[in-house]
Amino acid sequence: MNKIELQKTAEGYTVATVGNLASFEGKAFLKEVLGTTGIEISFGTLADGEELPFFHHHKQNEEVYIVVSGEGTFILNNDEIAVASGSVVKVEPEVSRCIKATDSSPLMYICIQSKAGSLEQYTMTDGIVEQ
Ligand code: ZN
Repeated sequence: MNKIELQKTAEGYTVATVGNLASFEGKAFLKEVLGTTGIEISFGTLADGEELPFFHHHKQNEEVYIVVSGEGTFILNNDEIAVASGSVVKVEPEVSRCIKATDSSPLMYICIQSKAGSLEQYTMTDGIVEQ
């Protein structure tokens, strides 16, 4: 399954699902469904031995890839980095990147993309505790 299902939209929030991540296949981008304004989030799966069909880089957005399950290789410029469930890979905009699943394992990942240098406050400098 790679369908995004909108579950609820209300003033100030949106809830959606891509279903059980253990059975997710393909690629799904969430920006349009969620209406995000500062980040793009996508879910992606590569089957055993499958590789993204292209290398790419970005104009202004950095990306963080979170490997949810499986094993694979990130190709970052000329480096090959082995990844597995739990790996977190941050990639600056200008770095050429490609992802490949190992021959024996599918790879499922979440990619979070935002404008490099745009984070001005975070965690406790942005969060306001309410009682
Ligand atoms: Zn990208």
